[in-house]
Amino acid sequence: MAQNSQIATEWEWFTNYIEEIENNTAEDLLINKEEKLQAAKDIENKELESKIAKELALIHIYKTNNLEEAMPLLIRAMEIDEASEDEISLIFTYLGFYSLFEKVEDYYYGKEFLNKASTLLRNYNFPPVRIFINQKLGYSYWSTGETGKSIEEHQNILQYAQKERIPKVEAKANTDLANIYKDISSLDKALEHYKNALSIYRRIKSPVEEAKCLNEIGDLYLIRNDSKRAYENYIVALDILNDLSNVEANRASVYNSVANYYLKENNPGKAVENLAISNRLAQKSQNQLLIQETYAILSKAYKKLNNYQKALEYSELYKALDDFLQKEKNDRNILKIQSRYTITQKQNQIDQLELNKIQKEFELEEERKFKNFLAIMVVLAAIIMILIFILFISQRRSNAKLKTANEKVKTQNQELEDLNNTKDKFFSIISHDLKGPLNSLTSFSGLLMNHTSSLSTEEIQMLAKDLDKSLKNLFALLENLLQWSRSQTGNIEFKAEEIDLTEMLNENKKLLEKQADNKNIQIEVKNTKSVKAKAHPNSITTVIRNLLSNAIKFTEDGGQIKMGVVEEENQFVVKIADNGVGMPKEVASKIFRLDTKHSTQGTAKEKGTGLGLILCKEFVEKNGGQIWVKSEEGKGTIFSFSIPK
Ligand code: ADP
Repeated sequence: MAQNSQIATEWEWFTNYIEEIENNTAEDLLINKEEKLQAAKDIENKELESKIAKELALIHIYKTNNLEEAMPLLIRAMEIDEASEDEISLIFTYLGFYSLFEKVEDYYYGKEFLNKASTLLRNYNFPPVRIFINQKLGYSYWSTGETGKSIEEHQNILQYAQKERIPKVEAKANTDLANIYKDISSLDKALEHYKNALSIYRRIKSPVEEAKCLNEIGDLYLIRNDSKRAYENYIVALDILNDLSNVEANRASVYNSVANYYLKENNPGKAVENLAISNRLAQKSQNQLLIQETYAILSKAYKKLNNYQKALEYSELYKALDDFLQKEKNDRNILKIQSRYTITQKQNQIDQLELNKIQKEFELEEERKFKNFLAIMVVLAAIIMILIFILFISQRRSNAKLKTANEKVKTQNQELEDLNNTKDKFFSIISHDLKGPLNSLTSFSGLLMNHTSSLSTEEIQMLAKDLDKSLKNLFALLENLLQWSRSQTGNIEFKAEEIDLTEMLNENKKLLEKQADNKNIQIEVKNTKSVKAKAHPNSITTVIRNLLSNAIKFTEDGGQIKMGVVEEENQFVVKIADNGVGMPKEVASKIFRLDTKHSTQGTAKEKGTGLGLILCKEFVEKNGGQIWVKSEEGKGTIFSFSIPK
């Protein structure tokens, strides 16, 4: 409904403004108009700009007849309304266009704008504008020869006005219909509608319209040769008009009718009398058509009076005026063509713009699609590149891993090979060592078997003593070998237990004391308090016994051996020192090695196996420790081994 109030306001403005144009001079109307239009443009008030443009256009249409000025103003207003989608404002812009085309009698274009306005108006319920448009459509159809459609429009208005009781509109629709029926010679229908209009105008007291109807009704009666009735109507019309002012044209029209009546009655003298009055009135009203009509009847009347001179005079005046009117019509035609051209051009422009817009949108859409496609491709390419990179990196990593693994395998293989070589060498040495005592054993046993009778008891005893010595040596070698091989095959379980190192040193001292005594060697254990460590008892005691036995073996008569345990931060270090023969540096570097078995005789010619220290190293390492030697030839030796805490 807010929209209806807006359309009501606009309608009021439209009708008032047209009235204002009628009642004012062009100069007054145009005062400040251009400035106001410029101001509206400056402050960018589009709504106001559209309205002022329309006002200016209407002034040029109805007052200055400058349609060339009016057209661009209306086009501007249309552009603004279309851009802002202001439908109501656009309806009145279309009505402005209609006014322009109506002015040049271009009803084809006029109709088009009325139909545009009519379509927009469907969204609103505001009868006055609907009626206005339908009336104008009725006139346009009439002018373009579409009589049926024209009658239909006026009939619709009539029905609506009757239903809604709007007498003024009802009366107007009746006269419009009557005019059409009169033109197509449906005289009965024409008469009926004029009579209807007449009674309404009487009722609502519109004397000028009433008189016009009476005049028309009179004319119809005159056509029907009912002169008496015609005359009666003319007289009433004149009675009404004579009491009014500013109705010269209407009066002139009735007097012309009266003149026609007298001509029909074959009274040209009376006709000329009435025509004199109508001519004066018509001249005063400046209504060219009326003047022309008067001239025509005057010429006819004078002809009947046989005054050919006068008849010719009026005939020429008629023609002169006709020429003038024709010229005006031609001018209008030129304007009509110009206006049509401008509006068609404008329409073409709009169509072209629309086309360009669609084209542009299409291009933009294409561009957008292409950009999307590109973006997707770039992303895909990036993903593929990243994947390739990742693949490359992982390949390189696994290659590196493989390489290190290969290297490890290689070094392990090398180590294994080395170890195997070492063991091969070791076994060849051992087998040689085993062969030695066994050879001497077989030669002993051979001697005993073959020469038993020739050998003395002392000799046999000596041989048996040597045999025993050889066997003991062999036994020691085998025992060491067995122990070593057990440790190698993992048959000895080096399970750590709590041991007392001091106690262990003392036990071994006791065990080997007899041997030491034989060589007058003193053994001293430095520690008095117990030293508790965690290690495998059997292996550690074997190591101590081996080291102590060596110390006794390689120390001269009357020598000294010292044993002890030193506690360090992370380990215990067991030391066994003697002041015996010692050994050169190159020997010290060989004694723990498997591949260079080294053995020398003891100070009392004790034989060795060369396996003891190798076993010691093996056992110490199985307990997580290390073994090392410090020795000086002729001064003595210190063996040390560690046990981690
Ligand atoms: P064996 O004593 O049976 O020969 P070992 O492996 O026990 O075998 O010792 C190897 C060699 O190391 C000895 O033959 C000797 O030359 C040297 N050796 C070992 N202990 C000592 C020591 N306390 N003083 C000097 N030389 C030693």
